Amino acid sequence: EKESTKENNVAKIKVVVRKRPLNKKELSRKEEDIVTVYDNAYLTVHEPKLKVDLTAYVEKHEFCFDAVLNEQVSNDEVYRATVEPIIPIIFERTKATCFAYGQTGSGKTFTMQPLPIRAAEDLVRLLHQPVYRNQRFKLWLSYFEIYGGKLFDLLSDRKKLCMREDGRQQVCIVGLQEFEVSDVQIVKEFIERGNASRSTGSTGANEESSRSHAILQLVVKKHTEVKDSRRNIDVNESRSGKVVGKISFIDLAGSERGADTTDNDRQTRIEGAEINKSLLALKECIRALDNDQIHIPFRGSKLTEVLRDSFVGNSRTVMISCISPNAGSCEHTLNTLRYADRVK
Ligand code: ADP
Ligand code: MG
Repeated sequence: EKESTKENNVAKIKVVVRKRPLNKKELSRKEEDIVTVYDNAYLTVHEPKLKVDLTAYVEKHEFCFDAVLNEQVSNDEVYRATVEPIIPIIFERTKATCFAYGQTGSGKTFTMQPLPIRAAEDLVRLLHQPVYRNQRFKLWLSYFEIYGGKLFDLLSDRKKLCMREDGRQQVCIVGLQEFEVSDVQIVKEFIERGNASRSTGSTGANEESSRSHAILQLVVKKHTEVKDSRRNIDVNESRSGKVVGKISFIDLAGSERGADTTDNDRQTRIEGAEINKSLLALKECIRALDNDQIHIPFRGSKLTEVLRDSFVGNSRTVMISCISPNAGSCEHTLNTLRYADRVK
C-alpha cells in the first residue's frame, strides 16, 4: 500500500464561482440581481424572458460547483478557498495553475491580483521553515502576457518571447526574466510594474487588456550552489536552479472576446479567434486532466502550450469563474457557468 502523502488530500481540479456585487451603474439603472447563491456550493440564475404575448416569465437555471462565493466574500476568503491548500505541496513537486475566467467587468482582475501576493507570503514563510532552510530553495517570479498568440515579458519592456520545449516535458520561455522574491513588498511592486506594461493599444487600458491573458508565475527552485553575496550580479542564477514546483496565476482574456469573430475590424477578428481557440483548448486540457487521459491536447493554443508542464505529472488546477449579477449580463453569465460546468 502506498503511503498517503499530503498531496493526495488536495483535489486535482477545483472549480469555484465568484459573484461580484452590483456596481453603482447597475444600481442606478435599477438592474435586477438575477444570481442567488446558497449553501456555498449552489446558485440559481433567473433568466428574464419575454413570451410572444410580451408578458415576462422567468426561466430558472441551477448549478452546483465545488464552491460558490457570494458578493460578501472577501479576497482573503477567496485565497483560503482556492490557493492556500495548494501552497505546501508546491514544495513536493507540484505544478499548479489558478485561472480567472469570465466576461470583462466580472471581477477577474479584482480576484486575481491579490492571490500571488498572499501565495508569495506563504511560500516565503515556508522557505524559512527548518525543514526547508537547508535545501537551498529560492522563490522566483515572472510575469508575461499572451496577446494575439504572441508572448511578451511584462517585466522587461514587453520584450517579445518565444517558447521552446526541452524534450523532457519542460517548457522553456526563452529570455523570460525571473526575479528572486525574498519579501512580499517586492511582489506588489512587480505586479504594479507588469500591469503598467500590459497591452493598452490606443483605445484605453481595460478594453485592450481584456484581449490578453496575463500569466504570473511563482517558481520554487533548488540551487546546488547559492551565492550569498552580491547576488544581483549573476543574471543567470535563476536558470541554474532546478524547478521544484510552481504556481501560475492566469488572468484570462474576457470570455466574451472569443465571440469577436465577426467584427468589422480584421485585427479584432483575428484576436477574437485566437481567444476563442485558447479558451476551448484550455477547457479540453482540464477535462483531459480530470479523466487522467494520457494524451493532453495542449497543442491547441499558445496558452495551453505555455502551460504544458503544468498539465502533466503532479498537477493541480483551480478555475475561478467570475460572474456579474445584473440582468443585462445574463447571457454571458450563463455562458461562463456552462463553461465552468464542462470543466468540473
Ligand atoms: P475584469 O478583470 O473581469 O474585467 P475587474 O476585476 O476589473 O473585472 O472588475 C470590474 C470592476 O468591478 C472593478 O471596478 C472592480 O473593482 C469591481 N469588482 C469586481 N469584483 C468585485 C468584488 N467582488 N467586490 C467589489 N468590487 C468588485
Ligand atoms: Mg481585468
